[in-house]
Amino acid sequence: MEPIGVYVHFPWCLKKCPYCDFVSFAKERDGIEHERYADAILAELDRRAGAFEGRTLATVFFGGGTPSLWAPQALGRVLAGIRAAAARHAGDDVEVTVECNPSSLDEDRARALVDVGVNRLSVGVQGLEPERLRFLGRLHDAEGGLEAVRAALRAGVPRVSADLIYGVAVPAKEAGPKYLAGGPTQEQSPSEAAAEARRVAETGVTHVSAYSLTIEPGTQFGELSRRGRLPIANEDGVAETFFAIEEALGAAGLGHYEISNYAREGHEARHNLGYWRGHDYVGLGCAAFGTVSGKGAGQHEGSALRYRNVIDPARYMRAALAGEAEVESEEPLDPETRLRERIMLGLRLREGFDLERSAAEVGAEAWTPSRRQAAERLVKRGKLTIEGGTIRVPRNAWVLADGIAAELF
Ligand code: SF4
Repeated sequence: MEPIGVYVHFPWCLKKCPYCDFVSFAKERDGIEHERYADAILAELDRRAGAFEGRTLATVFFGGGTPSLWAPQALGRVLAGIRAAAARHAGDDVEVTVECNPSSLDEDRARALVDVGVNRLSVGVQGLEPERLRFLGRLHDAEGGLEAVRAALRAGVPRVSADLIYGVAVPAKEAGPKYLAGGPTQEQSPSEAAAEARRVAETGVTHVSAYSLTIEPGTQFGELSRRGRLPIANEDGVAETFFAIEEALGAAGLGHYEISNYAREGHEARHNLGYWRGHDYVGLGCAAFGTVSGKGAGQHEGSALRYRNVIDPARYMRAALAGEAEVESEEPLDPETRLRERIMLGLRLREGFDLERSAAEVGAEAWTPSRRQAAERLVKRGKLTIEGGTIRVPRNAWVLADGIAAELF
């Protein structure tokens, strides 16, 4: 049976970070409707339970927002509901991940999450340098980030991941309180980034995600950038940092398996691998996306339905609890669109992906004449390899994977 994942969105954080474009709203823990939100998700799950027919539940991912703020028993109730809905179709070893912020994770909370069935935590460490953490608006310091990871490991969480952000330029002190484009900045050197990654690896984490900072419109950083008040890291330095982190983590036993992700053997994030390989996932909660293919979604063979739930948490809860559809938008995905998504995501993986098998799965043509020509051009330029039906971007061109994928559309 084909695997399927579940994504549950938790939309609240203690504070909004200035770079963040996820759907998240600042709220004190006491002001959150922990149980009512769980009830709303369980009501939505009831409506979507048909999606599990003929599939094996492989992963559940609680993302956000900051789901580690959620009362563990409420989160546990949702998890038990998902397991029950997929009961006849659950794999033996379902990966259950919760995203955590160091300011809402200690050993007791990690233990409480393990007790309700969570077996993987992903901790937003982001960096170990005080000035940079302040600039990123984080509520924790470097020691707080490392301690959250250690607490998760002490609590017996079998798989713990840490997130890092690199490519951040901070206004230098002499720039004064109001930075202006072109002013002096303080940037992390590739060797400093490598040292930071090493310190994180030394905690014993089994997985690291390292992302370069992207400036998104609609965020505080996006607005500062528009007004020429945000320092931007030097592009060459960012590329060097990518390789310095790779080397440091590789030496620490964490293999680079996706552009932004590293893992000890067997500890790759199965939920994200599902996205990158184009597996279906049911999205639950406000603002959640889901993609369900085939007859379970009322679609023709090969086609899929992508939906997004309403973004506002109060509206979402009202609709779900009243038994009304909580969907904001729906988009049918035809076979060719699905294949393009698989190319885009599959080329982010070190192993690449089997284009011919994927095309057969979604009912699209693998080698259209224009795709064949583009692939041959890329192979000549050393930016793609083809082995049987599998295509792959070689390591030295990995940072260009998005553009390479677009050429294959
Ligand atoms: S804690 Fe995470 S989800 Fe919340 S605002 Fe910050 S980056 Fe966004």
